[in-house]
Amino acid sequence: MAHELIFRGAHVVDPSQGIDSICDVSVKGNVIAAVAPSIEDNEAEIIDVAGKFLTPGWIDLHAHVYAGATTFGIKADGLCLATGVTTVVDAGSPGWTNLRGFIEFIVEPSRTRVLSFVHISSIGLLNSMRGEMEDIKNADPEMTARVIAMWPEICPGVKVRQGIKQVGENDTEPLRLAIAAAEMADTRVMVHMDQGVSLPKLLGLLRPGDIVTHCYQGKGDHILDASGQVLDAVYEARDRGIIFDLGHGAGSFHYDVAQEAVKQGFLSDVISTDLHVYSLFDPVYSLPETASKLLNMGLPFDEIVRQTTLNPADAIGRAEHLGTLRPGSVADIAVFDILEGSFVYTDSHGNQESGSLKIEPVFTVRDGKRYFPDELREEIEETTRRAIEMKTLTGMPYGRVRGANAPTVNRP
Ligand SMILES: [Zn+2]
Repeated sequence: MAHELIFRGAHVVDPSQGIDSICDVSVKGNVIAAVAPSIEDNEAEIIDVAGKFLTPGWIDLHAHVYAGATTFGIKADGLCLATGVTTVVDAGSPGWTNLRGFIEFIVEPSRTRVLSFVHISSIGLLNSMRGEMEDIKNADPEMTARVIAMWPEICPGVKVRQGIKQVGENDTEPLRLAIAAAEMADTRVMVHMDQGVSLPKLLGLLRPGDIVTHCYQGKGDHILDASGQVLDAVYEARDRGIIFDLGHGAGSFHYDVAQEAVKQGFLSDVISTDLHVYSLFDPVYSLPETASKLLNMGLPFDEIVRQTTLNPADAIGRAEHLGTLRPGSVADIAVFDILEGSFVYTDSHGNQESGSLKIEPVFTVRDGKRYFPDELREEIEETTRRAIEMKTLTGMPYGRVRGANAPTVNRP
């Protein structure tokens, strides 16, 4: 039998192969067997997905999933599989000292593929009580490089946060040390841009292939100048091959910045959630919810899929194997409806926009196995319960929508 499952009649969008048409997709075991206008096999199970959109499994390049070991971490496995996400990349919750625990307690038991940037802060992102790089002694480039060399399949790079609340008086020195670690390990850096550190200065240090996250943040030192134009330094960085990741989060997606940038033609390269305890309920919810905001801002669906499959795979050097429906690739697939109606979306500052479209997950295939949102409801409820517990413990009540002037703690 050449095909075991045939997904019949979906609108298939796979930017890695330039596919944007009605196709059949077949799976054998845990790999993609074929993508073609029509696939016939009398022995295969036929799954009718006519009217749906079928894409490679989505990759969330920026989330925080070290639940239980950090205040930010959510238990994300069920939520990912319920929302089309087959690969989730933790943006540096572990540092070198606690990476081994992350692998043992998060990566290994998860059905979702879990990867992690290793924070240049040896302790990672434990809590928001103080900036992890206010004390420069927290950085250890040699040990960071050493763990990445030990687990290269799990660790696509080095993370550093560069806002005044994270680095204090240290300006761009943490980034310099993160780049030193990345050079030793022959990998990339993901840098969180934030208020209080000059963005042009930060971009000037980056190398082609390095990633800037929170590209539509509106807190200050963002991508727009005082007159609202995208900075020349931002275009120059893009021309040099720097990658711009969205990283929505609880504080890093401002509708004004995003809309102005999109209007000027400056699109993110990657759409990601920055899901964590404080962004989960409001305003982020999921990667399809985040992507729906961009869809309603006018990005075509194939661009949305490019930014959630091919581009993040490419950003972590995995485009050969991930974010694609190429035959022989692992059978990671997402199936969505695009609902039409009236929907309200909220940015990280409490600003709301209404939209007529919503990307709604139907089911996910991870490693050849199908997962339906309804079957994962209990797991998601547990994710919610545990996030409420941590929010309550750390003084952020459940359901609170932060306004622009709400007191901020130091969030990832
Ligand atoms: Zn983050």
